[in-house]
Parts: sequence; structure tokens; C-alpha cells
Amino acid sequence: MRRAPQGLFARRSWICVQCRAHSVAAARSANLSASKKNKKNNGKLPDTPARTRFAPSPTGYLHLGSLRTALFNYLLARKTGGQFLLRIEDTDQKRTIPGAEERLCEDLNWAGLQWDEGPTVGGPYGPYRQSERTALYRTHAHELISNGHAYRCFCSPERLDTLARHRSQAGLPPGYDRTCADLSSEESEERASKGETHVVRLKADGYPMFEDLVYGKTGQNRQKHKVDFIDRIYDDPILLKSDGHPTYHLANVVDDHTMKITHVIRGTEWMPSTPMHIALYDAFKWSPPKFGHVPLLVDKSGQKLSKRNADIDISFFRDKQGVLPASLVNFAALLGWSHTQKSDIFSLDELEQIFNLKITKGNTVVAFEKLWFLQKAHAQRYATTGGPVFEDMVSKVTEAANNAYPITELGSILQGRALPEYVAPLLRADAKSYTNASEFVERNRSFFTPTLDRAPYTPTSSKNASTTSGSETPTVPISALHTAAAAFSLVPEFHWSAETHRFNISSYDGASALSDTSSLSEAAIPEEAEKARIAADKTFKKELYHYLRWALSGGAPGPGIPETMEILGRAESVKRLEEARQLTTDKNSKGGLFRGNRRPKGVDLDGDRSWMGSLAPQ
Ligand code: GLU
Repeated sequence: MRRAPQGLFARRSWICVQCRAHSVAAARSANLSASKKNKKNNGKLPDTPARTRFAPSPTGYLHLGSLRTALFNYLLARKTGGQFLLRIEDTDQKRTIPGAEERLCEDLNWAGLQWDEGPTVGGPYGPYRQSERTALYRTHAHELISNGHAYRCFCSPERLDTLARHRSQAGLPPGYDRTCADLSSEESEERASKGETHVVRLKADGYPMFEDLVYGKTGQNRQKHKVDFIDRIYDDPILLKSDGHPTYHLANVVDDHTMKITHVIRGTEWMPSTPMHIALYDAFKWSPPKFGHVPLLVDKSGQKLSKRNADIDISFFRDKQGVLPASLVNFAALLGWSHTQKSDIFSLDELEQIFNLKITKGNTVVAFEKLWFLQKAHAQRYATTGGPVFEDMVSKVTEAANNAYPITELGSILQGRALPEYVAPLLRADAKSYTNASEFVERNRSFFTPTLDRAPYTPTSSKNASTTSGSETPTVPISALHTAAAAFSLVPEFHWSAETHRFNISSYDGASALSDTSSLSEAAIPEEAEKARIAADKTFKKELYHYLRWALSGGAPGPGIPETMEILGRAESVKRLEEARQLTTDKNSKGGLFRGNRRPKGVDLDGDRSWMGSLAPQ
């Protein structure tokens, strides 16, 4: 959430130590140097409650990577019965975006990551906004000055610039020569009290290795100084800037300590800064929290996903793509985390139960196909359980349908039902394909238009399957399909349900419907005859479903046929079936597909129903 921290002598010609933390290359090599040396982490959780925090800077919005960081911290706290804190790291006031903090809170709330302590809720270790803690950082910086672990540096920007330029020209890494470290404390105090511009630097005693929860032992075990042919050179990071405000490093360490944070889960881009933080903890004689760095998110071509890329801003997923919070949270959880469950589909509650620290090393490739898989799975879950999220989905689909189609023309379909009442069962029936409201409406457009635009009917291929007798599967005559379809019109309104239709279709004798076009009944051996009958029934049903789908929805995928008929209602279904019959009745054709309407002439639909076989109402 924050740009690279400012380095000691950041200038154009090289990248300062801290800024390097933000380059993919640095993170990669950090990963590499740690992962080469270390074995797999076992994911073991702490035995005591963890206090974790998410510490975004309001210089940007929540994006996929930071959502994942927040989520892992949240889950670690929940799983261990600890607390999850939200801390706003707004030390860089110049880059703070107005409204960003509110958006961050809103987005975390949307994702369901409620913090136990932090802005809006308060807590015993507040304030939770760094801009309100400046005095605390100053006190701590002065404490380090008094015990010799920090010193005031009065070097002018020009001097530092010259030093930096020389080092750069000599191809040397940046560093400070500690000119001001040798000032007596009297002189230092006096110059400061006269208002001379200065910063406070840590007198670093080297940067120790540390044990990372993900990467194992890591760091470079850097000594306190390097001797090169220009001078002794030190990585003495600035703690307090010349305006008296803390740098990220000081504020971060002081806050994690004073807020009693036990575990810090953050992106690998911060890994190169961690040894410096440990040095700071050492200087204060504090024990550091445990650190776990989560790998970078990269796209399929290995490029870092960036918050500057609007595609991964949370609002993009939520507002533009209609992703459900459960789906996005589930998706973020799977980015670089592994579990031993059979399925990847988890609600936040479930994640809270099963979370561990099995975080993978190395970059995590983000494949968005998985997001849509999870979205469908969660939509299906909500459709099954109902509740406020499902109701919200219903109102979004209703709105999308209203925007896309002249709903006023749907009177004959709605038959007095309010649109949401019509949408809800449709959503329940086809939630397994739900991506977002407008795509759902588009996929199921046949439900929202009174006139279907059907392409000419094409039967399913009849060449592939074969009967057990070895001959080709017989073509299903259209008349047999008409007969079966016509039977639906005999189902009375009060029996008009998916259940009735499913039962009727399954008990319809498809083999008999085919018997005059096949040689099935001629099989000599009874078992063979039975097998042939089953195969013929299957062939018929397959064709019948295909035909009914074409008749009812123009062939578009969507809910099952029985559900489709229930949702459309009796009148609309019967109307569509009749339209389909007319479209596929070719009076001039003899034989084959268009063998004429097999509906027996002179049959009174309200009287003799024996021709319907098992489809006849009981
Ligand atoms: N403010 C830092 C960021 O936005 C947090 C780093 C950390 O978690 O320590 O990335």
C-alpha cells in the first residue's frame, strides 16, 4: 500500500537499498537466497493467540495483493484466538490520497475482514493512525540517541548528494560515512536546540539474519560497516526526518512493539527491510515479532501484478465485475497458500477454521479462471442457503434484466409475479453458472424476452451412438418429439412443477416412441432386447431434451428443462412448445426427421389420453 521507502541517498543513478525492496528482481533474489538454503515450511501455527495487523498506507486502495496480506493476518489471528488490528501508516502525508483510508476500511468491511482494534473501533493501544502518534516516535528516537544507538545527522542535502554521486560514479552502493556520528552529545544537543536542520539516524550494528516463517533463515548478515576504497561506509537508516516526522521504518517498529504485535505477515517486497527492522528492535532491546513474507503475485507471463493496474483494484472486481466478497476472499486465500482439504471452495468462516501457515515460497501466478470457478461455486452455495447475499443477487439480476430488456412486455410470462419473484427461482436453478448479474441475464435472455428467435432446429448427431445390435441409432422422428412435448400441455396448472416434469420425462417410454423406426424389438435374446430398449430410451430422451431446450429457450444453455418450464410457467411453456411444433412441422415431407406429426388424429386431448403412455396425468 505504500511506495518504496526513501533511501539514504536516493537519486536518479541508482536505486537505494529500500527502494530496491520494491523491484521484482530484489524480491526474486530475496526469495531465491532464502529458499535455496531452507527446507519447506511446515505451516505450524503458534500455540498462543497471535496479535496481527494489516498496516496499509492510504496512498492507494486495497488491491488483490494487499487483500491477501490482510486476509492472512486476519486468519492467523482468528485461527489462534488472537486479535487482528488495522493500522493506518500515513507517515507520508504528501502521498496520502484523500478518502483512501475510508475506502480501505470500506473494502475490508466488504470482504468481511473486520478488525478488532483500529480506526473506527478504537482499542487499548491506539491511536491507530500513525499521523496521530508522532510524539511517540520522537520520544523513541530520542531514547535511542541517549543510549547511543542513534545520532543526529546535520549533513546538508548537498553534502549527501556529493557523497552519493561520488560513490555512484565509482560504481559503489550507497552508504553514509558517519560524519555526524562522532559529534559530541553536547554539540549535537546544542545544534539541535538552535534549530539546525537534521535527521536522526540509527547507528546500525549490522543487520542480522532472521528466521522467516515462510522462507526460514534469511537475510545477509551484514556487518555494521563496509570498508571500500573511498571510506568506511554504513547503512544507518534515517529514523526521524528533518521535519520531525518518523520514517516508515521507525514508525513501523515502534508501533508493532507498542501494539504488542506477535506476527507480521507482509509481502516479500518488505523482506530486504526486515533485517534493518530487527536491528532496530535490537537497539531498543525489544524482542521482534515473528515475520512471514508472502510471495509476490505475478501474471502468467511472470510480471508483477501492480496496484497501479486497475484490473486488480478491489473496486474493479466488486463494482465492475460483480465478484462476490466470498469468491474474492476465497481466491485471495489460495494465492500462495496450501491446504489439505479435498475442495478449494471455502467461505471466510471455513478459512478461519482451517488456516495454517503453509505459505509457498516463490512467486504466485494469478490465474483468474479460478476466480470465476469460485464465483460460480459460491453463487451456488448462496442459492442453496438463501439469505441476504442471495437476496442481493436477486435484486442485481432484476436490475440488470430491467436495464437490458423491455420487462413491460413480459406480462404474459410473469402472470402477475413481481420480477424478483420470477428471477429468484431462475437464479436458484442456474446459480452454478452465475458470474455476475448482467452476464447471467444475457445467458438466460430467453427468460426475459416474450419472443424467441430460434435458429432452425438441428437434431443431435445420430451417427455416434449405436444400439447393442450393432446397427446405427435410429433417428428420432420429429413427430415422436412433438408427441412427447404435447403431453406437457396436459399437465394442469396446479401440477406444473419441475418435479412433475422431471418425473414425467423420466418415466416416458422413449423406446416405444422409437419402436416403429428401429429393429430393437426384433432382438431374439431377452437381455439383448432389454439392453436395446434402454439404449433406445436414452437416445430418445437425449433428443427430447435437445428439442425441448430448443423449443423453450432457443437452444441456449441455462437451467434444466423441468426447471425452465416451471419458471416460465405453464402458459408460456405451452406457447413455446406449440411455436416449436409449428416450426418443425413440414407438411410436404415424408419419412426421416419430418415424418409428420405423430400425434394421433382425432385424439381428444381432454378425453382419451392413452396415447400419452406414462406422461398421462395420473
Ligand atoms: N505500510 C506498509 C505497506 O503499505 C506496511 C508494511 C508492513 O506491513 O510492515 O505496505
